[in-house]
Amino acid sequence: MRYTIYTRDDDFSRELASKFNEVLTDEFHDTRDDDSPQIVLCIGGDGTILRAIHQYESQLDKLCFVGIHTGTLGFFTDYTKEDFREFLHDLHHNKPVIQSYPLIEAIVDDEQTYRALNEIRLGSFTTTVYYDISIDGEYFETVCSAGICVSTQAGSTAANRAVGGAVVDDGLNILELTQIMPVSHINQHSMTSPYILKQERVIEITGESLDHSLLCYDHKETKRLKQAKKVVIKLSDQKVLFARFRPYSYLERLKNLF
Ligand code: NAP
Ligand code: MN
Repeated sequence: MRYTIYTRDDDFSRELASKFNEVLTDEFHDTRDDDSPQIVLCIGGDGTILRAIHQYESQLDKLCFVGIHTGTLGFFTDYTKEDFREFLHDLHHNKPVIQSYPLIEAIVDDEQTYRALNEIRLGSFTTTVYYDISIDGEYFETVCSAGICVSTQAGSTAANRAVGGAVVDDGLNILELTQIMPVSHINQHSMTSPYILKQERVIEITGESLDHSLLCYDHKETKRLKQAKKVVIKLSDQKVLFARFRPYSYLERLKNLF
């Protein structure tokens, strides 16, 4: 097996990673290959998996991810640090179930594409933004807020939840559109409820406010969208593959959340 290890930048995760590395090469004779691995072992948290996915974005169809959490069990991580031996056993003896999650993408002016697993956020923390939102080419609403968050099912428990979006069950492919700090008073109300859209929907955002907006995708951001005229957000054809070496319970993770 060709593997690589992607580690959160803290002492404990680094130590665990070097222990894994030692056992995998010396005991199991696996091959460490950082350039073209078959499997990426992520040690840290859900945020670590996000970073690993972005690092290997150009090879997502050729590899899968498995996460070992060094804190409490996350949504993308299937093992905790206590499961060290069990994980090694499963990795070498169990056939994994491969679960795929679509990425979400934002295309700016038909030119530049940014992809994320959790969500795309578009907005400004300095001034209120006004966006004209069309869905599948049909005008929907002009929103007035600090911005919008468009989340995937996988991201529904992350920033989406923090801005009032609903948690969406595992296995549903959707987009969820939520406003961030919507302006709401007697003369102005804009989209006060989160909107869950079917997977093939295409959201188009236009308006002069794009000029001073920031586009964030997972933990990353673009420079200000200076002179941008249009941002299109939709589910991507690209998918992330997770190798599940033991049964995955979404409910178990949700119980930790609420
Ligand atoms: P980060 O430190 O990597 O993550 C912030 C927190 O969000 C961490 O506790 C992380 O879990 C958790 N998280 C990430 N993806 C998640 C998911 N799909 N479901 C549930 N929890 C999740 O922060 P960052 O670099 O600023 O941003 C990366 C991502 O974190 C963003 O995509 C955003 O959705 C999320 N985030 C969430 C909040 C919030 O809920 N208020 C705030 C900031 C960012 P681990 O501790 O296991 O890594
Ligand atoms: Mn966590």
